[in-house]
Amino acid sequence: MGFKALITEKTDDGYRSHVGERELTDLPEGEVLVRVAWSSLNFKDALSASGNKGVTRSFPHTPGIDAVGVVEEAGAGPFSPGDAVICTGYDLGMNTAGGYGDYIRVPAEWLAPLPADLSPRDAMLLGTAGLTAALCVEALLDTGLQPEQGEVLVTGATGGVGSTAVSILSRLGFTVVAVTGKADAHDWLRELGAADILDRDALLEGLDKPLLKPRWAGVVDCVGGDALVSALKGLKYGCSAACCGLAGSPKLENATVFPFILRGVNLLGVDSVELPCEVKQQMWQLLASDWRPELAKLEAAEVTRDQLPDWFGRILKGGVRGRVVVKVA
Ligand code: NDP
Repeated sequence: MGFKALITEKTDDGYRSHVGERELTDLPEGEVLVRVAWSSLNFKDALSASGNKGVTRSFPHTPGIDAVGVVEEAGAGPFSPGDAVICTGYDLGMNTAGGYGDYIRVPAEWLAPLPADLSPRDAMLLGTAGLTAALCVEALLDTGLQPEQGEVLVTGATGGVGSTAVSILSRLGFTVVAVTGKADAHDWLRELGAADILDRDALLEGLDKPLLKPRWAGVVDCVGGDALVSALKGLKYGCSAACCGLAGSPKLENATVFPFILRGVNLLGVDSVELPCEVKQQMWQLLASDWRPELAKLEAAEVTRDQLPDWFGRILKGGVRGRVVVKVA
């Protein structure tokens, strides 16, 4: 059977993506066939579509690391035809055909039930970014962080992870300071729940000092590089930074051990891709209930698959605000 999918192909002068036809037999062997309804756009999807070999090794390929839809063929696992499911991470959209196709076929262990209180579109409004934001918050709460301890810093605040983290933390009663490079986004970040806004450049003041005035009770860092170094230097005694991203840089060139050995601070690594699906399921339940971000205030552009090639370029240049949901069905 044929179906529609975004297909990225290698050409003589680079990579080109277009909507075309694929066959169900093109999909990998797997237990569960899912009819995709919505997907989303993440930085990693744009890397895949531009031929980044660290993400996707062989082409033609269908990107899309996020998908939500309905089980069509369930195999022997826990799911039944008609179940609404979410798939994020693992190999989806990397070297396994992803959510920009009408269908995906994946192992049952990659699937989480769609929580009853979350619409398929809202699940993709959150997507991998929302899941990662929840995991960062979880990592900080696991250290015992309480709202009374003071301000929590979120870097890359207008991105998908950052904006969701601002909303969740604010909902949980934390005083959030949002770091952004977008001067026109301050009002939106305050609406999302930020108590204060810090300009990207202002965060980096005093970076040459071994330590900064201890201000942050916790940090959600989406940016890496000097932003994370500055955040670590400004953490209060014994407090922690959850590190999930590299939107600025993967390097920590200006880091020293001083924050760790003089203030006993912690750097917590957060991965949303390979962690056990039971943890993802718990996070999706929290995102749909007690930690539910203000979904109506999270910004989302809604695009079709035909429009994606233009959006790949935009997200690679850091020009996307909030999330991008992709209508598939
Ligand atoms: P987005 O592209 O939506 O947002 C990233 C944000 O970072 C931008 O909106 C911008 O925010 C800021 N930014 C962009 N470029 C720079 C720069 N050069 N210097 C400083 N800040 C910059 O990405 P996501 O929110 O979806 O993801 C954030 C990061 O987390 C990415 O690096 C992504 O790869 C990573 N990630 C990791 C996951 C994991 O499992 N560990 C899962 C999902 C994402 P502003 O303008 O407000 O400063």
